[in-house]
Amino acid sequence: MAALTPTNEQEFARAQAAMPGGVNSPVRAFGSVGATPRFFVSASGPRVTDVEGREYVDLVGSWGPAILGHAHPAVVHAVQDAAARGLGFGASTPGETELAELVERRIERSGIRPIEKLRLVSTGTEATMTAIRLARGATGRDLVVKFAGHYHGHSDGLLAEAGSGVATLALPGSAGVPAAIAAQTLVIPYNDLDAVHEVFAARGTQIAAIIVEAAPANMGIVPPAHGFNAAIAEIAHAHGALLILDEVLTGFRVGSAGWWGIDPVPFAPDLVTFGKVIGGGLPLAALGGSAGVMDLLAPLGPVYQAGTLSGNPLAVAAGLATLRALDADAYAQIDAASTTIADAAADALTAEGVAHVVQRSGSLFSIAFAATPPHDYETVKAQDAFRYPPFFRAMLDAGISLPPSVFEAWFVSAAHDDETVAQIVAALPAAARAAAAA
Ligand code: PMP
Repeated sequence: MAALTPTNEQEFARAQAAMPGGVNSPVRAFGSVGATPRFFVSASGPRVTDVEGREYVDLVGSWGPAILGHAHPAVVHAVQDAAARGLGFGASTPGETELAELVERRIERSGIRPIEKLRLVSTGTEATMTAIRLARGATGRDLVVKFAGHYHGHSDGLLAEAGSGVATLALPGSAGVPAAIAAQTLVIPYNDLDAVHEVFAARGTQIAAIIVEAAPANMGIVPPAHGFNAAIAEIAHAHGALLILDEVLTGFRVGSAGWWGIDPVPFAPDLVTFGKVIGGGLPLAALGGSAGVMDLLAPLGPVYQAGTLSGNPLAVAAGLATLRALDADAYAQIDAASTTIADAAADALTAEGVAHVVQRSGSLFSIAFAATPPHDYETVKAQDAFRYPPFFRAMLDAGISLPPSVFEAWFVSAAHDDETVAQIVAALPAAARAAAAA
């Protein structure tokens, strides 16, 4: 009897019976794009393969970590080698120090290194959550300022008007967050310095930190206004508050020193968070800052944080191999491929008369279906988002896997070679027609 190949529909039905929404992270359910999620069984370079044996060019890249392409030989070899020596010890390893030293050296600009000490955690959520606890511990204050449409993970205090899946599902925040905790977060519009001045004028002595996505990428891409990060650093510091720069998505992606390294106006963050690329595809994230602030963490200081799997040797090996392979050539390749794809998407949409803007922050980009560039969460939400689902489905039909939400970035990797990019470019005109017909 011939073996039956399961279909994506069958896998999804089975998954939905076993897991909430059939997924372990909400946006994977494809709810906002009206399609059946693909169940992947393997990936290599710029491509992923589903249970039906169909191959797609991937522009999700594991939501960022796969910056070298999937199953990069150097990364896989490093992980295999580490696995053969033990999956984890719950004790210190030389690799953790090596990774910390590498990050501390790498986050450098004009001789300035804002990260003197680093702590490894397992997810971006933990990194930002710990950074906030540390800022509170350092200042003795409770309030945190965040920007509408920014996503910093799913800890209680950071879900208010959050981007990413919270935006995709059009939720104002999350049920289950106690009002007393939500009240500790002050949400203000992005790219609006008056709002920053106002919140500090009103509550400045109670604010522990501003947390900001270095270059927001969880409401689609919304570049910071020229000098915005430097200005908020100055305002925070004038009031004795810290600036937490969230580079979970941008770190080691838009350049070797993250967005901080390429922001047109240099500035001094107090704490920086990393995730995604730093773990090379395995669960690893980090936070770093000056020794004075970081040494407030246990065991040296009073701010507690811990993790059974923190600094896991397989994740550290993947992170080290990934960062080592990310040289100037890799970034040049990502930049070039991103530009070609973004320009082709714009040309295809222009040809169909679809109002759109390519939003870019370095090599990160997304398409907003708007006539003028969105600059904050309100203007992002006002776009013709209904044009994205048919655009997405047409690309998927053509074998191109885009992020299943208009509020996410397109993740290009160093493995997106000319042939792969040509395949994406060839699929765009039909997708633009579908968007125009929506
Ligand atoms: N901060 C930013 C800027 C992010 O993009 C994300 C994840 N998309 C997070 C924090 C949370 O990271 P994680 O999903 O690993 O918890």
